[in-house]
Amino acid sequence: MATAIEFFKLLPKTNCKDCGQPTCLAFAMLLANQKAKIDDCPHISQESKTALSESAAPPMRTVTVGTGKNAVEMGGETVLYRHERRFVNQTAYALTVCDDLKGKALSDRIEAISSLSFERVGVTFAADMISVKNVSGDPVIFAEAAKAVFSLWKKPLILESDDVDAIEEALECIGKMRPLIYGANAVNLERMAALAKKHGCPLGIRADDLGSAADLSARAKAAGTEDLVLDLGCSGLKRCLEDHTVARRAAVKKKFKPLGYPLMNRVGSGEYAVAMAAVSTMKYGSLVIFDNLESYEALPLMTLRQNIYTDPQVPIQVKQALYPIGNPGEHSPIMFTTNFSLTYFTVRADIEKSRIPVWLQIVNTEGLSVLTAYAAGKFEPEKVSEVFEESGVLSKTDGPVIVPGLVARMSGRLEEMIGRKVLVGTNESKQIPKHLKELTSQ
Ligand code: SF4
Repeated sequence: MATAIEFFKLLPKTNCKDCGQPTCLAFAMLLANQKAKIDDCPHISQESKTALSESAAPPMRTVTVGTGKNAVEMGGETVLYRHERRFVNQTAYALTVCDDLKGKALSDRIEAISSLSFERVGVTFAADMISVKNVSGDPVIFAEAAKAVFSLWKKPLILESDDVDAIEEALECIGKMRPLIYGANAVNLERMAALAKKHGCPLGIRADDLGSAADLSARAKAAGTEDLVLDLGCSGLKRCLEDHTVARRAAVKKKFKPLGYPLMNRVGSGEYAVAMAAVSTMKYGSLVIFDNLESYEALPLMTLRQNIYTDPQVPIQVKQALYPIGNPGEHSPIMFTTNFSLTYFTVRADIEKSRIPVWLQIVNTEGLSVLTAYAAGKFEPEKVSEVFEESGVLSKTDGPVIVPGLVARMSGRLEEMIGRKVLVGTNESKQIPKHLKELTSQ
């Protein structure tokens, strides 16, 4: 990915503002941060456009599996480390459905996969895909199974077989849904690539190592298919860590195109599979296929993934709103805090722990925590009073307003503005239960 200055050199430099930016340099900076498209500038020459398109393309190809709102994007990464910019597309997790399952056994299996769903800091975690695995060895049974799974599971599918006939049969049924074909290898590559090209589907390549992955991706490209996902054949934790790192370095730093594709792993089930998935998630894996994943394994894994793939420059936020906790009434206290997700969920959990009903008002501080927001002028009495008015919380209760202890200094001004008694709360969220109990026992 080119730098802003490299982009700038290819722009017309007239500062005409037709792209909506004040200067060509500002536009170049957006291009470098992938926040603008080259076509937004109508004055670029064709020659520069071609050069810019090449520079703007991420060193790792973005590959889409599925269609519509449930489609999963993989790859498109531009950096080695999250803090350099951000990671773009989080690791997708897929679970296996074998094609010998039928009727109730099949619907039970899909239901079990769908039930792997959790909510954490306002984000829902769930399995992203199902991999239909050809264990029957029969193309017709495989195609029927793919069709049956598709009718029950609305998210993207993976067709897993190295039998070209089986893949072809299944693609006739669900090819339009853009499944990932996972089964190209050194022997069948050209025929699998031809099927991928014909149906416009991405192709997963099973290689033995880094070298063969590069060879096979070059062969697939020559055969006319470029939406590739590479399985480097890593069977152990150490090799997964090493090979994924080498592949990402080669793609991002050396611009080595044959390895500039998303990476995937097929793991089994149980502790070692989860450890492999954790390594793959931390080190550049875009897709992990499990034989099975229990909920107690899925939650920590998905939490790890969330921590790695959130944008470090954008704090996770919740909506500015009035949140009634524990069925509060007309004498319940009002508490308020910022919309930084971690603050909200911590405060909320501690209020719930107290078992005392509270009106919790969340104030939009663009995801900043209490002290930072206060220092930045985004969490001041004027703002809080305005938000109280908007939500109407003061007309719902005559209870006291509790100001977070860290910003106790705003209590006097806030009291004046809202005409309601303001108490100073605790510095630490964990002290909230004790404080609320003392307050309500007075
Ligand atoms: S439209 Fe093009 S030439 Fe005009 S300011 Fe934007 S980048 Fe520069």
